[in-house]
Parts: sequence; C-alpha cells; structure tokens
Amino acid sequence: MSLSSAPAPALADWPDLAVTAEAVIVLSDRVWRISAGNPGLMTGPGTNSYLLLGPEAVAVVDPGPADEAHFQALMAAVRHSGRPLRHILLTHTHRDHSPGCAALVAATGARVHGLPPLAEDPSQDRDTVVDVELRGHCWDALGWPLTVLHTPGHVENHLCFADLEQGWVITGDHLIQGSTVVIIPPHGRLADYMASLRLLLDYPLEAVLPGHGRVMTGARQVIAGTLAHRQQREDKVLERLAGQPPLALADLVPLVYDDVAPWLHPVARFSLWAHLIKLEEEGRAVCRNELWQLQVAAGVE
Ligand SMILES: [Zn+2]
Repeated sequence: MSLSSAPAPALADWPDLAVTAEAVIVLSDRVWRISAGNPGLMTGPGTNSYLLLGPEAVAVVDPGPADEAHFQALMAAVRHSGRPLRHILLTHTHRDHSPGCAALVAATGARVHGLPPLAEDPSQDRDTVVDVELRGHCWDALGWPLTVLHTPGHVENHLCFADLEQGWVITGDHLIQGSTVVIIPPHGRLADYMASLRLLLDYPLEAVLPGHGRVMTGARQVIAGTLAHRQQREDKVLERLAGQPPLALADLVPLVYDDVAPWLHPVARFSLWAHLIKLEEEGRAVCRNELWQLQVAAGVE
C-alpha cells in the first residue's frame, strides 16, 4: 500500500481527490477514505469506506460489500495507522455498505455501531449484527466528538456522522455525488428524506463525504440544491397529473422524467412512487385501482 506522508490536503482540494478502488486517500488527520471496487448503476464508482482516527484507536465507517480485496485494503490502512480497529460504524445496512463487517469483526473483534437491519425489508443485509445502537447523540469513543444524526428517508435505519470541528459529514446514501439518491418505498420515504436534508442544514458543515463518489464542498449549497431539485420534481408530478385522466405509475414515469434517459426510468419509477406517496399523505394526490390523479378539493368539480 502506498500512502503519502505529505500533510493532509486543504479542505478546498478534497473534491479533486479521485475515487480509486482500494487506494487510501488522506482527507484530514481524522478521516481517510478507502473506496471498494464495486462500481455500478446504484453504487457509482464504488462504495466509500472511511477510516476515522483517534489517538488510541481507529474506526471504520461502512465496511462496504463482503469483498476480499476491500477487506485487505481496509486492514492495510488500519495497520498503517498504527492503531487497533475497535469500532465499526454503519450509515445503514444496505448490501453495498455493511456486509464487509463480518470479516473485520472476525479479524479484530471490533464492535458494530448503528441501527439494526430492518427485518421486513428484503433489500437489507440482514446478516449484520449491530452491537451498539446509535440514534442521534455525540459519540466520542475516539477521543473527539462525532455527532450522530438519525436521517431516515433513503431508508428508515439511516445515520449520518458529522465532525463539527472540522466541518465534514459522512452521509452514506443520504447524499451521494454524481446522481440523486433513489428512494424506494415503503422503507424509503420522501417526506422523511426532505426532513432529514433540512436537519443537516441546522449544522455548520462545509464538506459532504458521500457513500458514493467524491467529496462535495459547499455543503449547504449541496443540501439546499438537493432540496430544490426534489421540490422541482414534485412540482412536475403535480403539473403532469393536472388535467389528465388517472394514470398508472408506469405511464407517468416518461411524463415526469422526460429529462432523464429512458434506460434510467426503471430506477426513476421508485422515486416517482415515493413522490406520489408523499402527495397522497398530504392529501394532494389519490390512487384508485392503481391509477393516480390529483386530489380534487371538496366542492370543486
Ligand atoms: Zn443504501
């Protein structure tokens, strides 16, 4: 493993650090990035694992998929730190983020912190065992304060981890670089997702360290831009439903996502479904016999 002994780069230079599988990218004296070699439609250039460093021990955030090369890269980074791996933190338990826990736990005895897999969600890695439940508090086992934020939306058992002193937040699949996050009902909820984005705006953050893709600086603009994008899409759903006969979800996808390549429509369908459920909960859309239409206000023909 090669790891530069040069000082950590300035925060403004973090976005230039390319995602390269299994390379160790030093972001600061507290956080390194090691990306897994699992690129794909849902994973972008691969899943980012982060190594958090304290004076006495280190922690891995999101060990990624169960992959031997990634396991070896994480262990090499731990050895290079010169400190034992005592903790694993999980943003959530989707299969591209948490199955790598098992090999790390077997090799080091590290304890797993996060929210347990949702038993009723077939998309989750239900083999990972969470030893310590985290839900919105300060975690200081490394000797510096890491703020744990419960951020449901992408999925209910999702956490973000923020270092408010250095101004960065590890966002898992709450914010990713290069594309928008897919919300898959019923365990993903768009209303929760928007609320969790607004929650991040309460904190003094400068850099987003996503679960997929490069670091994004200008965190507040990134978050506000994501909120605005979701609002524009919702406005478009309402616009396309107006003046139409009731429409099936599949027929509404190309109307609402006419700015998105058709090969991405099967994925966009999930987000559209999430939008419609939010509008239904708000009393603005209604679904009858699997056909969607606007909810017409009482007394209006
Ligand atoms: Zn996910």
